[in-house]
Formats: sequence, C-alpha cells, structure tokens
Amino acid sequence: PSPQAPLQLDPAVSVDALREGLAELEARDITAWFGDHLVLDRVSLTMPAGGITALIGPSGCGKSTFLRILNRMHELVPSAKLAGEVLLDGEDIYDPSKRLIDARRAIGMVFQKPNPFPAMSIRENVLAGLKLTGTRMRRSDKDDLVESCLIKGGLWNEVRDRLDAPGGGLSGGQQQRLCIARSLAIRPRVLLMDEPCSALDPTSTRVIEETMLELAQEVTIVIVTHNMQQAARVSDQCAFFLASQGQPGVIVEHGDTSAMFQSPQDSRTYDYVNGRF
Ligand code: ADP
Ligand code: MG
Repeated sequence: PSPQAPLQLDPAVSVDALREGLAELEARDITAWFGDHLVLDRVSLTMPAGGITALIGPSGCGKSTFLRILNRMHELVPSAKLAGEVLLDGEDIYDPSKRLIDARRAIGMVFQKPNPFPAMSIRENVLAGLKLTGTRMRRSDKDDLVESCLIKGGLWNEVRDRLDAPGGGLSGGQQQRLCIARSLAIRPRVLLMDEPCSALDPTSTRVIEETMLELAQEVTIVIVTHNMQQAARVSDQCAFFLASQGQPGVIVEHGDTSAMFQSPQDSRTYDYVNGRF
C-alpha cells in the first residue's frame, strides 16, 4: 500500500499538519458601532508576527471591542456593526467567502475570567476546542497534544498526575493556564488575551507572563492590560487607546514599548503611563 493509505482510511489530522507558522495580523480602519453608538473610529494597527502587542488605555475606550473584532466575536452582538478590514497574513478574515470557524480557529481568545469547563477533566478541557472545530485525531496524537499544550501553558508539572481531575478544581491561576492550553490545542496563529491576569494573584500573573514570552516564539500575541508594569515586561509594542468625552475610541499613540514608556510623544500617553488618569 502507498504511504498515503492509512490517512485515507482514517481522516485524522496529525498535530503538525495544523501548524502554519508565524502570522502578522493587521487591522485597517476599524470602525465599530453598537446600534448608533460609535465606539471605535478608523483604528489601524499592525501586530507583527511573533511579537507581543499590548493594548492599553482607560476603561470604556474600546480595547475589548477591538480585540473581539480581531477574531469575529463582535458580530455575535446583534446591534454590532463594523467597517474596515482585519488581515491575517494579508487575507481578510471578514471575506464573505471565508468561514467564521476558520477565523476563530486561527485566532484564539483568552478572557479576563478563567472559564474552563468546570466539570470536564483537565484533559477534556484541553481537547474541547477540537470538538468544536470538528478536528479528528488519533488517541496517541491527542495524548501528545494534551501534554505539549499543558507544557506550553506552563501547567504540565502541576497537573500531569491528575489529568482526569475536573478543571474546576484548579486554582484561578491554574484555570487561566488551562484556558491558555485549551486555546493552543487548536493551533491558533494569533492569541488574543483580554486582561488575562486581572483576576489573578501576583505569582500566577508572573507565571503567565513567562508563559506568554515563551509562546511568542510560535504565536502572535495581543494582550489588553491595565497593568503598566506588565505591558512593559512582556510587550514589544504598545498601542494607547483613548476615548475622549463623548468621542469614539482611537489610538492616540503606538510604537515600541520602551520608547513609549520612556519618551511618549503625546502628553495624554505620558499622563496615562505615569498613572495620572
Ligand atoms: P474597554 O475594553 O476599553 O473597557 P469596551 O470595548 O468594553 O472598552 O467598550 C467600549 C464601548 O462600547 C463602551 O462605551 C461600552 O459601553 C460599549 N459596549 C461594549 N460592549 C457593548 C455591548 N455588547 N453592547 C453595547 N455597548 C457595548
Ligand atoms: Mg475591556
């Protein structure tokens, strides 16, 4: 039989077949509304392949909305409207001929509040995304995937002896790392993180920051954070969002993180990064 035969008999996808390498994400002229409320006005930002981009700015300026637009979650809100483009390695994820599931699979999301499936085992949590995306895999490949994702999520050593224990039994910081591992299982090219450490203690926060720095080797990361030290520690570039009174959110300034913290060009950025808002 030809070497292809087993694959034809078993349509399982091997772990490596899903990897496509580092990708750049580019938002162009993103304008967003909820009903008549304009919340973002022509926001453009390039998030370089394999870099960590931090989105900073006061509450309500549209950071979460922007992040949700980057993986087509904005359209889940019935009143939501959108103009502009999001390009993943040059391809518009909103192209009507593209499937929503492909955008979501390529661009994973981790939320502020850790949200593992509490009754599911740690192992089943990691594999949950495969079910949603309809990916089939051999048992041994699944075991490899669970291990590699938990290693990358910085959780393996703590849970390797209890993979069948429920995800809900973990501490908050462990649950968040489980959510990161779950996101990684579908081999995203971009990982979006909306204040992933805001609900966690400082120790868990540091572990997740270290995890992020490792992950940036293989996935492009965009993180929203209110923690300026965190932005300074992990990100390569920063974008400062601001919505002035009654105005939609815009990016006031963006660029290299150390430059933005040391010598911001705009006085509003200076005030924000120095805690004066
Ligand atoms: P941030 O993450 O920077 O705090 P958000 O993106 O959450 O900001 O919110 C931006 C603006 O959009 C706010 O005025 C907020 O009230 C509004 N908004 C966010 N989500 C919704 C929604 N689902 N429906 C209506 N308005 C919303
Ligand atoms: Mg938010």
